[in-house]
Amino acid sequence: MSEIKGQHCPICGGKKATLREEEVEIPHFGRVFVLSMDCSDCGYRKSDLEPAEKKEPCKFTFEVTSDEDLNVKIVKSGDALVKIPHVITMEPGPTSNGYITNVEGLLERVKKIVESSVEGEEDKAVRKKAKNLVKKLNKVLVGREKLKIIIEDQTGHSAIISDKAVKSKL
Ligand SMILES: [Zn+2]
Repeated sequence: MSEIKGQHCPICGGKKATLREEEVEIPHFGRVFVLSMDCSDCGYRKSDLEPAEKKEPCKFTFEVTSDEDLNVKIVKSGDALVKIPHVITMEPGPTSNGYITNVEGLLERVKKIVESSVEGEEDKAVRKKAKNLVKKLNKVLVGREKLKIIIEDQTGHSAIISDKAVKSKL
């Protein structure tokens, strides 16, 4: 892993950002460069990844049906659109991070997003809806409920690495 300190931070304009680059080999996907920046002044954090080889736009559909599926590896770039029907849609964009995780890690992230989206929310119906979503995710996380995950990526920099995942053209 290489690390460069004293980089320009795009948010606060200071020179306290650290840039890290790591090369990871992912079976059935290839070599990936994982880049991250964090600023010790303003707390800005951003990460993304880029495969060493060029990839085609892609769409992956995966159904989580057992606790074994929780270990399935996921490569998610900042350009990925992640859809979990009836739960969440995570849009790509400048604030969208790229990372390598597994199904469990992705669902834990989704749980945090759902929970923080209702922090300070006064509408009881909205809070209840979020609570039910978290309950559903918890059931999936112990293998007691099914869930579908769809990832679309125009850059092709994302993947769900499992024989069970259905890959199609975007
Ligand atoms: Zn900063």
